Amino acid sequence: MDGEYKADRALSEAERLVNVRYLGHCLHENRSVWNSRTMGWFSRCRDCRVEIQVDGYTQAKHLPADVLAHAWSQEHVKTAASPVNGAQLRYALEREGWRVQFLGVDGRTACEVRKGGTSWRTRFFDTQAEAVVEAGAMTLRNYTLNPCAKPSNLVQSPH
Ligand SMILES: [Zn+2]
Repeated sequence: MDGEYKADRALSEAERLVNVRYLGHCLHENRSVWNSRTMGWFSRCRDCRVEIQVDGYTQAKHLPADVLAHAWSQEHVKTAASPVNGAQLRYALEREGWRVQFLGVDGRTACEVRKGGTSWRTRFFDTQAEAVVEAGAMTLRNYTLNPCAKPSNLVQSPH
């Protein structure tokens, strides 16, 4: 049931970053919406041109905002909740030159990624997918770990 719950949650910040950067998903909010008389409602992202068709509502004169938001949310893949999507992310990282390794201890998994002189290792997670999402996010400059978690890394001024 835990997996079901995860599939319904919002995207984590790590997923949002790796989905856009490594998997090429659309998470923009700049969308056009139109109705085709025969085919129903469509929406297209003005930024990256991804287009979706909204199921149902073919006869509706107006498309409710929540229906549109939900249709787009179907595009928002919870990468950490699926072994298949986690594997896709691993391949995407490897294509960009990252060496990806998993470390298993007591049924939990950490992920280490290494490229040149740079390496990142995650904490331990229940699944490889969760670990590789965290590792992928750590390779991105704008991903911030829990700001309170790493006081030892802060360089403080001496006065
Ligand atoms: Zn887009």
